[in-house]
Amino acid sequence: MTVGIVGAGQLGRMMALAGYPLGLDFLFLDPAAAPPAAQLAPVLKNAFTDDAALAQLAARCEVVTIDWENVSVAALRKLRRQTRISPPPAAIAAAQDRVSEKRLFEKLGIATTRWRAVGTRRQLDFAVREIGLPGVLKTRRMGYDGKGQCVLRTPADLERAWTDLGQVPLLYEELVPFDLEVSVIGVRGRRGEIQVYPLNHNLHSGGILRLTRAPFGTARLNRLARRHVQAVMEHFRYVGVLTIEFFVRRGRLIANEMAPRVHNSGHWTIEGAVTSQFENHLRAILDLPLGSTRAVGHSGMVNLIGSIPERAKLLKLKGLHLHDYGKKPRPGRKVGHCTLVEPSAARRDARTLKVLKDLAAGVGFP
Ligand code: AMP
Repeated sequence: MTVGIVGAGQLGRMMALAGYPLGLDFLFLDPAAAPPAAQLAPVLKNAFTDDAALAQLAARCEVVTIDWENVSVAALRKLRRQTRISPPPAAIAAAQDRVSEKRLFEKLGIATTRWRAVGTRRQLDFAVREIGLPGVLKTRRMGYDGKGQCVLRTPADLERAWTDLGQVPLLYEELVPFDLEVSVIGVRGRRGEIQVYPLNHNLHSGGILRLTRAPFGTARLNRLARRHVQAVMEHFRYVGVLTIEFFVRRGRLIANEMAPRVHNSGHWTIEGAVTSQFENHLRAILDLPLGSTRAVGHSGMVNLIGSIPERAKLLKLKGLHLHDYGKKPRPGRKVGHCTLVEPSAARRDARTLKVLKDLAAGVGFP
């Protein structure tokens, strides 16, 4: 059985690593010269919008999925006559546009930030008057890892933000003084069965995820997050893994954004859950029984940003699992991650902090 994956980044690579023990084969589509998944499986080196290459992918694969959401939904939709596409293109389309995403959350009764769509300079003035300062101006599309966004604190910031971002459709929203950030990862199979992983606590700096620890949060917070991810999956008759990121403020969940795919905050599930998010995504899209999402310990996952530290130094740490994505070093780039699974949350936190300190990552627990 061959799985086609649009995008051959680290997420696709980890899907292949999870799929080979199940006897699966993989074929990727990616225009990059040497993407991370190319070390594991053949890659059609064409643009994501190349109809002929997509048709070839569909013809050679039982199912086509994605490893990043900014693919052409129109091109994917055309393939539906040829093969199965999971997750559903409608969910990918909603996640591509911050305005559709906000409307979806509101429709499903999931609290989100106060926001306004901004298409002109006048609309920006109006949005700032309505929502107030401070706020965040974000591109509606193609934003990731804090790119395409700008925090506005004083009226003087408007002009600079407009000059930086004003060429494309935008969204302005309140800056949430959150207590912390969490994400929930769910998986839904073809017959509608749903499993949800325990909540992740995420620490970002400079818009990039640095650290995740899981399981996290009270039973109540986990229940709320589970209800929200279930509602989104049921709405789309979703198949595969779906992630929602939230701000937590005074015990309330405020949805920030969703990702129709496996997620960086779920990398700990490779060693820290009975079934990883990558394997469960494959199980779901291939109509295989879902695996348990139960945590097998207390996991801490640290992203390796820019370059991989000295391998021997990292591996000297007892029980540390290293994942090197095979990417060229570049400042601000996610090039790998490492995970520790410990018998207690306290021990996990102490050891994860030590890794962060050694990496001089400049982040710590609140
Ligand atoms: P995003 O690309 O929307 O996920 O934003 C990346 C990170 O920037 C988030 O995880 C937050 O740490 C921060 N951020 C984005 N939007 C807001 C907001 N409205 N209020 C506070 N922090 C935000």
